[in-house]
Amino acid sequence: MPLRRIRCEVTVVDHVEHQLTRTAGQFRIVIPDTPGDAGVACAAVFGKPRNGCLVRVHSRCLYSEVFGSLDCDCREQLHRSIELIRARRAGVVVYLEQEGRGSGLLAKAKGYEYSQRTGVDTFASYEALGLPPDCRTYMAAGELLKQLGLKSVRLLTNNPDKVAGLRATGLNVTREPLHVQVAGKALEYLAAKRARGHRLPATPAGKPPRAKAVTRSGSTSIGAPLVSRAPNRLVASLRQLLPAMLERMFRW
Ligand SMILES: [Zn+2]
Repeated sequence: MPLRRIRCEVTVVDHVEHQLTRTAGQFRIVIPDTPGDAGVACAAVFGKPRNGCLVRVHSRCLYSEVFGSLDCDCREQLHRSIELIRARRAGVVVYLEQEGRGSGLLAKAKGYEYSQRTGVDTFASYEALGLPPDCRTYMAAGELLKQLGLKSVRLLTNNPDKVAGLRATGLNVTREPLHVQVAGKALEYLAAKRARGHRLPATPAGKPPRAKAVTRSGSTSIGAPLVSRAPNRLVASLRQLLPAMLERMFRW
């Protein structure tokens, strides 16, 4: 794939660009080819994003996104963001290689091990291991968004640090809440994030927050379709029918 050059206000950055196909359609991949920094940030560009479009800046989570871990909400946040952006027909997902809240996969694994052994959350386990609870940076994401021609974005996040980090790059950032439905241990992770300042509503145990979805008009609404791990209606129906089926089998 040939390299092109995109010109922004202060720098000229090489990048690689190509199309990618999903079931729902094609979108564009843009990856800056910055010396010593290649592959740190990748943009999935849907439609023709303009100022004020929806943007998700997402940090890599191997466990959730590849292995299907139920211990956090990363995969749901990513999928929900794509869903919302596609509904608006334009927007950007910037994917950052910042595994383990910026400390890397090995540190993340150590944090999990400590957390499972002691019962503390993963933020506290990082601190106990002498690691910063969250050392992610958003400079690469901000620069990439500006290189895509954006000056203002509506950022899908519950994390005030992410908003501040992107604003520090000169972008005009408005926060859009991103609430997803999760269950089990992921709820504990949400509680830990809430305690660390993430803008998440308090919910009774076992009752995850309803989603706030962005409508085509730009307003928000409660109760939109969610990415859910709850049993679907078919499973619930089968569970109801099962006792009767067993009774008939034994009678026969
Ligand atoms: Zn995760």
